[in-house]
Amino acid sequence: MEAKFYGLEKVIREWEEAKRDPEKFWADKSKVLTWFRRPDKIIEGQPPFEKWFVNGFLNISYNAVDRHLPDKAEKVAFYWVNERLESKAISYRDLYCEVNRAAYVLRELGVKRGDSVSLLMPSIPEALYFSLAAHRLGATLVIHYVGLSAETLSYRLNDCDSKVMVVASKGFRNGNEIRIKDFVDKLLNEYKTPVEKLLVVKRGYDDFNVNSRDVIYEEVKPRGRVEVDPVAVESNETATIYYTSGTTGRPKGLTHSNGGYLVALNTAFKSIFSPKGDDVWWTISELGWPVWPMANVYVIPVLGLTGVLFEGFVGYKSDLFSRIIERFGVSLVWSSTTTLYTLKSLGEESVKSGDLSSLRMILNTGEPLNVGAWKWLREHLPAVYIADAYWMTEHLYPVAATPFGIAEIPYKPGSAGSKFPGSEFIVVDDEGRPLPPKSKGYIVLRPNNPALAKMHKDLNGEKMVKTYWSRFQGYFYTGDYGYVDEDGYLYVLGRADDVISSGERIGTMEVESVVVTHPAVAEAAAVGYKKEGGEGILVVVVPKKGVSESHQLENEIKEYLRNSGYIIDRVVFVRRLPKTKSGKIMRRLLRALARGEEIGDVSTLDDPSVLEELRKVLAQ
Ligand code: ATP
Ligand code: MG
Repeated sequence: MEAKFYGLEKVIREWEEAKRDPEKFWADKSKVLTWFRRPDKIIEGQPPFEKWFVNGFLNISYNAVDRHLPDKAEKVAFYWVNERLESKAISYRDLYCEVNRAAYVLRELGVKRGDSVSLLMPSIPEALYFSLAAHRLGATLVIHYVGLSAETLSYRLNDCDSKVMVVASKGFRNGNEIRIKDFVDKLLNEYKTPVEKLLVVKRGYDDFNVNSRDVIYEEVKPRGRVEVDPVAVESNETATIYYTSGTTGRPKGLTHSNGGYLVALNTAFKSIFSPKGDDVWWTISELGWPVWPMANVYVIPVLGLTGVLFEGFVGYKSDLFSRIIERFGVSLVWSSTTTLYTLKSLGEESVKSGDLSSLRMILNTGEPLNVGAWKWLREHLPAVYIADAYWMTEHLYPVAATPFGIAEIPYKPGSAGSKFPGSEFIVVDDEGRPLPPKSKGYIVLRPNNPALAKMHKDLNGEKMVKTYWSRFQGYFYTGDYGYVDEDGYLYVLGRADDVISSGERIGTMEVESVVVTHPAVAEAAAVGYKKEGGEGILVVVVPKKGVSESHQLENEIKEYLRNSGYIIDRVVFVRRLPKTKSGKIMRRLLRALARGEEIGDVSTLDDPSVLEELRKVLAQ
């Protein structure tokens, strides 16, 4: 393809090279890691059954900590900060000592290579120590969301078979104290789980019950220097299990490997951020969203950078975002569209309450980047490049993104970005035939990279084939709907399940990206709505603060959308949209409630109390 502007040419050249010779491309990228034994073979077999870096042995914790000691021992590996701006700096030497202590205790509790260790904590330094400690022993790390229901969490503990679980006694978010240990006690008493030992990290207080299965970390933590040898694991052994967000249905458990996954992630971030030695990278995410470990466990320390661990909610105070950036000189921010939208709704103060001159890039992930939030950020932070990366738990390597680390290319509002070297997407029609630019269709992948996950407990790959490879022969199906423009930029228009068939097939994002530019609208979701003779469009609107809902506003929004070519049947106003823990809108709930159907799995619904209002409003 011929590129219109210089940067894009470079990106496409690299993309073509990676496609022509993936073995060479990935062999080269694997050098980002220190291997105890170099792989014999780069790729063996075909997706989804392929293996990567076969017979290569490595240890994640060694790559993240030990190898930096000779030249970065005094460098700050992480800053920790909370909503009250209390903070702490952790050097690479500190990280080494703490990871070894944590690994020592886990080993004493019986954890060994191949076992799984579950973690339930806020974003505190111990979360990082225990993540890396689990990897030091060659164990599988499973990080859970604080706030999942007891039923969902007990299902996951059984699914991943963790005998050891590490928790913090408490967490703090949005000014509230969350009593994690009390919640877990109740869960372990009420549900059958494999957990035999509960390792508790005390946070200042000890007003919790201590049971026979409990081990209090402070009481068993070695005081002096301990060293635990990093266990060498084969590249294809499982490093971690993630569960999908549950946006379109029941969450799926996916496993990522030690070698391929790490190579893919580090390659991705080198291409997106092109991190430099003095970069300070803040990932605004809770622990349970894969984004947190992706950055803080598998990339920042592996590349020897400095990260910021933030405990709390960035919208807690309107000046928090600015203050944290100024305090630590943050240069890279990785976050979700929900968080960016939160900043916008807090108003100018959120980006003007400190010196933000260190900030050079903001990266979005998780949902299409809200065009309104993007415009607002551009206006207030004109020197900051706002980028996007589109990926999924099954394929933690960008499908499309803005690889600013390769070349300066413009971000096009509404798009997920351009082709990304090492990854290949194609937009196809119902029959799986590739479509020309500008035609809407299903997004499928030819994943020729080491980032494709395996499904958990799917030994012969049957479940994987059935779930992802059967809809379109020869392709991995993303479940997303979109189109490509003439420059090869990909536009994700929404989930294929959510496509509205109102004459033409319309992706939810097409409508939503217009509604959110209306001055009275803060957030919105569009879904198909059954009406006589077909499907109509229902728009669920969260009005801006201070705006009162009215029949007039309803008509005004309809009119506004009509001017952009969308005929809306119904507009309703709500105070909050139903979102997953990772901040994604659960449109299937809106659709089901509007149609009077079963709502299905809500195990990852962030705040189930939203259902009450939605039921009332949508049932009419
Ligand atoms: P489930 O698979 O359980 O329904 P989920 O798909 O939301 O949940 P994730 O793996 O966390 O679970 O999310 C991946 C999905 O998120 C993608 O398939 C896509 O729909 C959406 N997504 C992620 N990043 C972007 C982005 N930058 N632009 C557009 N969409 C994105
Ligand atoms: Mg999905």
